[in-house]
Amino acid sequence: MIELLQEYVARQAERRPEAVAVVLNGERLSYGRLESAANQLARLLQAAGCRRGDRVCLLTSKSIEAIVGIVGIYKADCIYVPVDPSSPAPRVAKILESCENRWILAGDGVEPLLDALFEADRFRAAISVGWLGRERGKGARFHSDFSLADLSAYSTAPPDCANRRHDAAHILFTSGSTGAPKGVVITHSSVAHFVEWARRYFGTTSADRMSAHPPLHFDLSVYDIFGTFAAGAQLHLVPPDLSILPNKLAEFVRTSELTQWFSVPSVLNYMAKFDVVRANDFPTLRRVLWCGEVFPTPALRYWMARLPHATFTNLYGPTETTIASSYYTVPRCPDDDRAAIPIGIACEGEELLLLDEHLGPTALGEPGDLYIGGVGLSPGYWRDPELTRAAFLPDPRGGEPMERIYRTGDRAMVGDDGLLYFLGRTDSQIKSRGYRIELGEVETALSAIEGVREGAVVAIQSGGFEGMLICAAYVGEPGREVTPVTLRRELGRTLPAYMLPSRWMVLGSLPRNANGKIDRRRLKEACEGDGAEATR
Ligand code: AMP
Repeated sequence: MIELLQEYVARQAERRPEAVAVVLNGERLSYGRLESAANQLARLLQAAGCRRGDRVCLLTSKSIEAIVGIVGIYKADCIYVPVDPSSPAPRVAKILESCENRWILAGDGVEPLLDALFEADRFRAAISVGWLGRERGKGARFHSDFSLADLSAYSTAPPDCANRRHDAAHILFTSGSTGAPKGVVITHSSVAHFVEWARRYFGTTSADRMSAHPPLHFDLSVYDIFGTFAAGAQLHLVPPDLSILPNKLAEFVRTSELTQWFSVPSVLNYMAKFDVVRANDFPTLRRVLWCGEVFPTPALRYWMARLPHATFTNLYGPTETTIASSYYTVPRCPDDDRAAIPIGIACEGEELLLLDEHLGPTALGEPGDLYIGGVGLSPGYWRDPELTRAAFLPDPRGGEPMERIYRTGDRAMVGDDGLLYFLGRTDSQIKSRGYRIELGEVETALSAIEGVREGAVVAIQSGGFEGMLICAAYVGEPGREVTPVTLRRELGRTLPAYMLPSRWMVLGSLPRNANGKIDRRRLKEACEGDGAEATR
């Protein structure tokens, strides 16, 4: 097995330098050029003072240059921190502060965000910008320390790397229940284990043409990128502006002649809903993979009926255990819309355990809390030992081969067929359009707004492609004019758009249960009824 993820690129560059590595909008980058450009970027970063273990923020949508950025950051022995470029500046600022980033590699379209960030003196003084974009927006004020044109001054030979497989490769920030996003540290070794398993299991080869649909701050993108490079295959970046246009996505799969598609189920669901897949469509497509949430069986049946030539695999796992920890390839099209699709069995090197509230094993067939151990486990949350201790526990069975287990917060059970079935969550984490959201983060932000005496946030099933709808209930301060529209706008200053509530209830007081806690069940019922006002 390789030591560091960049070796996949180096290996292909040596053997097949002309082979296509990355494609976007008809533009192609070969493995040879990817390797050279990443070497140059690594040397530039090192010359500019980047040291082993430094965090480099990647603030860009998917692009060929962003992929060069990731490989270059690895080659400089640094850690990449991909940040959603559509996040509001205060949220990005929290991540930059938490990671003590001294470098941002930025791409087209983020100029206003950078300008907003650099209004703060502390960032202007401490953070340098490498501009990986093609065209810098007119009127942008931020100073960039280098741009793509500067790479040519550096040698294309690989720099020496001191990192080893258990060093951090990237930090992925997910929603945090107390209001601050939390950074999941992922090592080279964890990714390599998953990628190697996937290569063997799916039989990927250099003839593959793999999709890259999720944005770079989703952990699925890590498999897209390194799953492709491990096989010496082609990575087809789905242009971000197509990502929620079902017709265009279908056309993209056709014209790119993809052999593998991987995304969150919402996208597949959306394409099914708009009926954009024809009978025997996508003749080259051999594998459809999804991960991150339940793929509704009616939509799965839609896909399987139209693509009898493809295999369909459900991957399950949280970011904290690296991409996915279990899998299930659906053997034949289910004949019932209500059929439950298992999350299957553990990927090689992983273990999934069902435990009760005392961390003892559950009886066979009984639902339990799902814990994961094995090679994919993150070392923990970035500089947050308390949160890490709460989620990563010593294995109650003790000792080798697995020392820690991760508490997923998911409920699951083993069916009569010996396969695991996902049952739901034990907490208030939800998925909406594939995004992982802690309702606590939304609630903290809502309650912090002036004029809100108290607020509570719940989620209900949308019945549509969003998966879950976020509903906010609040009590205003007397004499203060706060409306759902003003509150939504206010929240939008600190939270990304996908976290904003779309239903609102203005109440005289929040419903409480006998213990004095907010009665969220009653709130949900009220939201499901017609007591809530919709906002956009
Ligand atoms: P994330 O860290 O964004 O990958 O979210 C992890 C959570 O998404 C898990 O703990 C589950 O609640 C949910 N999840 C991931 N994969 C699946 C799946 N295949 N089926 C159902 N839920 C899933």
